[in-house]
Amino acid sequence: MAGYRLAAIPGDGVGPEVIAGARLVLDAVASRDGFSIDWLDVVAGGAAIDAYGVAIRPDDLDAVEACDAVLLGAVGGPRWDDPDATVRPEQALFALRGGLELFANLRPVTVLPALVPSSPVRPELLEGVDLLIVRELTSGLYFGRPSEQRETPEGRVAVDTLWYTEGEIRRVVRLAMELARGRRGRLTSVDKANVLATSRLWRKVVDETRPEFADVEVNHQLVDSCAMLLVRRPAAFDVLVTENLFGDILSDEAAVLAGSLGMLPSASVGDRRTAHGRFGLYEPIHGSAPDIAGRDLANPCGTILSAAMLLRWSLGLDGPAADVEAAVAAAIDDGYRTGDLVPADGDAAGLRVVGTREMSAAIVDRLGARVGAGT
Ligand code: NAD
Repeated sequence: MAGYRLAAIPGDGVGPEVIAGARLVLDAVASRDGFSIDWLDVVAGGAAIDAYGVAIRPDDLDAVEACDAVLLGAVGGPRWDDPDATVRPEQALFALRGGLELFANLRPVTVLPALVPSSPVRPELLEGVDLLIVRELTSGLYFGRPSEQRETPEGRVAVDTLWYTEGEIRRVVRLAMELARGRRGRLTSVDKANVLATSRLWRKVVDETRPEFADVEVNHQLVDSCAMLLVRRPAAFDVLVTENLFGDILSDEAAVLAGSLGMLPSASVGDRRTAHGRFGLYEPIHGSAPDIAGRDLANPCGTILSAAMLLRWSLGLDGPAADVEAAVAAAIDDGYRTGDLVPADGDAAGLRVVGTREMSAAIVDRLGARVGAGT
């Protein structure tokens, strides 16, 4: 029997609830298809600050690195929000992404037809939306130094540093081009080359990489117009690649298309391979949602779809991954909705409004019959 070792990092807020749902689904697929999952439970984020005084312990980072992949809920919350604190929950994310060299964050955005009424965007604009945002994750403004506030005779000043090396740009652009090649062959590189030196280097590196991928059609788009086009003509995009901050913002904007933040998965990957596939960290795009935490209200679909990405990317199990995605779509088609998916007009007629646990169970139930393309 094939066996895999996965790290589970529930984190804070709704993290433990959505991770419980995703584990249920992965364990169900494993027992259905005859493979085993050995789970490593890791405490990180605010929970680790409370327990150990750090956002993640170095030994836990090493243990996570030895796994085949990582499933993460979310970290943070008002309890740990003091802006002057030196230990902060997000340090766990940066340590995981940076320490494990997960330089690309992949955020696919598709719109399930049954959820079109849940999106504030007009239905005709949502037809055919199937895009993938590839966000650079380990450089740019989030990591550039100096990043600090200073006292000066003129008052307080603050500085952040936007820094990219050509190597950092090239590796994520190459990955995005590979992914575009496996999809509809179109890549939009997003920058602010009319203003920023880093963007001009970004654009040059994209153009230098193009000959390796002659079959991929590449366009450059300024980030401001891209933000507008994402809501005006979202179906026109295939793969987008962009730097860290632009990707952070654009991917949350794109989430609106899918009806709720709670629906969207993500994968953070690098070049490292395990015996089964690409090592990666998988998490929903939403945060710890402290306003609904602990009340069985969170939508687990984004985390469950992240688990599907884990199966595909890190374990090479394409069939089971497709089955999980189909089971989520089937539960939605059958009317199951967490509160965030109730249509914008509040009309829940014909829908079954459920909590995190019941939604997860409905998805597990729909995994019973094999509907994917085999393993
Ligand atoms: P959030 O994503 O947690 O919540 C935004 C809104 O969406 C809230 O109203 C929330 O209730 C709702 N929501 C989020 N996920 C949902 C789900 N699965 N089902 C139903 N509704 C859902 O963003 P925020 O409020 O800006 O941040 C809350 C905390 O999360 C902060 O401490 C922030 O730092 C942290 N955060 C963590 C991550 C991460 O761990 N990767 C990402 C973003 C924010």
